[in-house]
Amino acid sequence: MSKFIFVTGGVVSSLGKGLASASIGKMLEARGLTTTTMKCDPYLNVDPGTMNPFQHGEVYVTDDGAETDLDLGHYERFTNAKVGKDSNITTGKVYYSVIAKERKGEYLGKTVQIIPHITDEIKNGIRKVAKERDVDVTIVEIGGTVGDIESLPFLEAIRQMRWELGTGYCIFIHLTLLPFIRSAGEHKTKPTQHSVGRLREIGITPDILLCRTEKTITKEQKEKIALFCSVDREAVIEAIDVKYIYEVPLHYQKQGLDDLILRKLNISRPEGDLHKWEDFVIKRLKSPKHEVKITVVGKYITLPDAYKSIYESLVHGGIANDARVVINKVDSEDLEKGNIAKILEGSDGILIPGGFGVRGIEGKIRAVEYARENKIPFFGICLGMQVATIEFARHVCGMKNANSKEFDPSTQYPVIDLLEEQKKVRNMGASMRLGAYACHVVKGTHSHKAYKKENIAERHRHRYEFNNHFRKDLEKKGVVFAGIHQERNLVEIIELKDHPWFVACQFHPEFKSKPDKAHPLFQDFIAASLAQRSK
Ligand code: GLN
Repeated sequence: MSKFIFVTGGVVSSLGKGLASASIGKMLEARGLTTTTMKCDPYLNVDPGTMNPFQHGEVYVTDDGAETDLDLGHYERFTNAKVGKDSNITTGKVYYSVIAKERKGEYLGKTVQIIPHITDEIKNGIRKVAKERDVDVTIVEIGGTVGDIESLPFLEAIRQMRWELGTGYCIFIHLTLLPFIRSAGEHKTKPTQHSVGRLREIGITPDILLCRTEKTITKEQKEKIALFCSVDREAVIEAIDVKYIYEVPLHYQKQGLDDLILRKLNISRPEGDLHKWEDFVIKRLKSPKHEVKITVVGKYITLPDAYKSIYESLVHGGIANDARVVINKVDSEDLEKGNIAKILEGSDGILIPGGFGVRGIEGKIRAVEYARENKIPFFGICLGMQVATIEFARHVCGMKNANSKEFDPSTQYPVIDLLEEQKKVRNMGASMRLGAYACHVVKGTHSHKAYKKENIAERHRHRYEFNNHFRKDLEKKGVVFAGIHQERNLVEIIELKDHPWFVACQFHPEFKSKPDKAHPLFQDFIAASLAQRSK
C-alpha cells in the first residue's frame, strides 16, 4: 500500500510547492522508491484548459490528453512518475462529479454536503491514483495558500486521511516563507508561526517545515521555529533560493530531508545517489563549454510561466550540447512595428511556440520569413508550425493572404483549417485534439536524424491542422512532410529543403523533455544553432 506525503503552502503563493514536491519525488526515487505526484487545485474551473496564460501560466498536457496545471510538468521533468488525467484534481472536477452523482440519485436521499461528500470525493481521487500507480509513495501537492477559503475541503480531506491511515503512513510537509527584513537585519518567523497556527486550527500539524528564504538560516533561528511551530528541530529545513531549479533536490538531500521523510514514514532504504544528476545536469548548467542565443517569439513573453516547458526544454537541449542557452524573449507584436533585422539580429536559432488568437500573428510570420531567408535554424511548435506554413504559402507559393481559418475565416488560401469533427464542437473545455498521437517520421529528414526512429508519439493541444488540400503545392516549392499521423493522414512535422535546420511540428515536444534526457528535437535544434553560431 502506498504511503502519502501531503505538501501544503503558507504565507504567500508562488513559493514553489510544485518544485518542492517534484524534488522530494526525485530524492525518494534516488533511494529506490517508486513515487507518483499529484496536484489538488482549489479553483472552480474543471481544468486550466479554458484559462488565459496570464491567469494560469502554461497549460501542461499529459499523454492521456488531460489539460493540467504546469506543476505536473515539474513532476515529469524531475521524476519517472506517471502523471495523467487523474493526477490533477480541481474543485471544479470534484463538484462536477458529486453533482452528477446527486442527479443520478446515487446519494440515496441524503443531504449532499461538503463534508462528507466533497471530502470523500477528494479522498477517493487521491486513493485511486495511489492504488492504480501502485507506488511506494504518493506525493500530493495542495494548491493555494493555507488560510484560503477555497482550499479548506482539500485540507479537511487530507486531515481525515492522516487520521484514517495513522502516523507512519502519512506525513505533512509545509512550505513556508521566512522573509528577511533588511532594516532589522534578520529573518522573521512570525508569518510562519501564523501559517502553522492556521493549519493546526484545521487539525493538521506539519511534520516538516520547508522554509523558503533568500539567506541562510542560523541554527538558533531553526530552534526558534521548531519550538514555536511544534516540529522536531531536525525537521526545519532550509529551502534557499537557487540559481537552477534542478539544484533543489541536492540542497534538500544535503540537509538529510530524504532520511527524515523515510524515518517518519517508517521506510528503510539504502543511501540515495544523486551523483549522476549532479555531474551531468548541474555541472553542465553551471560551467558549460559553449553558449548559444535562442530567440523565442511569443505574445506572453512578459510572463515566465506562460512558456515554462519550452524554456526548460531549451535548457535541456543546452545541457545535452554542453551549452548555456541564453533565451532572448521577443514580443511578436514588436515585430509588427519595428525593424525585424535589428530585433532578431544575433539569434543563433529562432523558436515560435504555441498560442491562440490573432494577436501577434503577423509578427510571428515575419519572424519565420527572417529565419527562412537568412537560413537561421528555426523551430516551430504547434501555432509555430501553422505560421510557418502560412509564411511559406504566402511568400514562396504566391498564395496572397494565405492564412489559418482561425485568423481569417474568409481567406482564399486556408492552408490551416479545422477538421470536420472540430467544426461541430460547441463546448470549449477539453475539446481540442489532445494528448499523445502516433507519428511516422520520414527517413532522411532532420527529424529522423534527431529521433533516430520512425515511430514516435507526441502530445497535442490544438483545434486547427495543416490543410491537405495544399500539400502538393507546398511540396513542389520545397516543403518536406517529415512526420505524418498515418491513421488519419494528418501532417505532424514539416521541414524545408535548402535550409540548415527548419523543423516545425504540430505537436508539443516540450512536454516530454527532461534535464538528463533532452527531447531529441530540442537537442538537435540547439546543436544546429551552435553550428550556426560558429559560422
Ligand atoms: N491556435 C492553434 C490551434 O488551435 C494552435 C494551438 C497551439 O499552438 N497550441 O490549432
